Amino acid sequence: MQQNTELPPVCGDADELPRIPSYWQKEIPRSYLRMPPEEMHGRIAKAKAQLGDSLIILGHHYQRDEIIRYADITGDSFKLAREASLRTQARYVVFCGVHFMAESADILGGPERIVILPNLTAGCSMADMASISDVEDCWAELKECSARSGNEFKLIPITYMNSAASLKAFCGEKGGMVCTSSNARKALEWGFTQGDKLLFFPDQHLGRNTGMKMGIPLDRMILWDPEEPLGGNSIEKVLDARLILWKGHCSVHQRFTVDQITAARARHPEVRVIVHPECALEVVQAADEMGSTEQIVKRITESAPGTQWAVGTEVNLVNRIRNQQPDKVIFCLDPIVCPCSTMYRIHPAYLLWVLEGLLEGLEINRIRVSQDIAHWARAALERMLALT
Ligand code: SF4
Repeated sequence: MQQNTELPPVCGDADELPRIPSYWQKEIPRSYLRMPPEEMHGRIAKAKAQLGDSLIILGHHYQRDEIIRYADITGDSFKLAREASLRTQARYVVFCGVHFMAESADILGGPERIVILPNLTAGCSMADMASISDVEDCWAELKECSARSGNEFKLIPITYMNSAASLKAFCGEKGGMVCTSSNARKALEWGFTQGDKLLFFPDQHLGRNTGMKMGIPLDRMILWDPEEPLGGNSIEKVLDARLILWKGHCSVHQRFTVDQITAARARHPEVRVIVHPECALEVVQAADEMGSTEQIVKRITESAPGTQWAVGTEVNLVNRIRNQQPDKVIFCLDPIVCPCSTMYRIHPAYLLWVLEGLLEGLEINRIRVSQDIAHWARAALERMLALT
């Protein structure tokens, strides 16, 4: 099998790429990057065999096939973190995904667990759109607004899994929880049993699409822009709001448009359109169905032979489902296909580098969440687990 050694293409605006501090970056030896693909494959397989049961390799659905072929478990971020926490015999977890996912595996894995992210520059531009300091400022402004209104409201924070551990900890400490794209509705319903209003971050689209499904009017879901005083809202709008949505988005899923859906239906009149809830509201409304990555995989896999699907999610996953199910017509809604640029940073060369490091006793690119952050982040994650 040919390994893809090209540099990753970039989806979305280059300004949205995650900011990785330079001190984080450890240099991979160039010999790994220049290695012939067959040698790389042989050495990965050998290192994996030598590490045996002490190792699990996790592969997120959006990883390229050259990585997925080595994964012991594939899935979405939450499934991978949870499965890893159940496989207690493995001392090492190599997480082929992005930074916040490896953090969650470390939080749920306990102190004996060593979690490795093969390339530390594999972040998530959406997760980076909500920093802990901006969220703390927002919280303080909303609290002040509540106190001065003469009609105090109770605010509950809910963060999407795609966020830094510090934000999960913030939610844990303030009585909120974490949610995934599969259980966002349950999390929001729970939130409204705990307080009057919800602050949801970092993805405005998942929050808005879920709020719409719950029947919350659009004008009672306001957008919070951290660059603006009171998020760009009047006090009246804040007091009337039920859901306060952080101004964040996924640069991959915002590429999907209503025009693409119209074009797909013109070419394939029988097609069903299924999109991820990180897509914009008008795209979700134009589609036939909405689902998380796990739900998309399940829905298409269980559909009848001959069924046609236009899919609004990351192209590596779409191509994989298509190759696994040749009896169906399956294609990505976006004709200019382009993978998530940060997921794409996990190249087989990085995987080999960290595996051979483990064999030498080196924990290259280990992800460690500090104990105080892990404590509260775990509380927010456990509230979510109790829901499901
Ligand atoms: S697909 Fe979007 S949300 Fe997922 S890792 Fe890439 S940028 Fe982040």
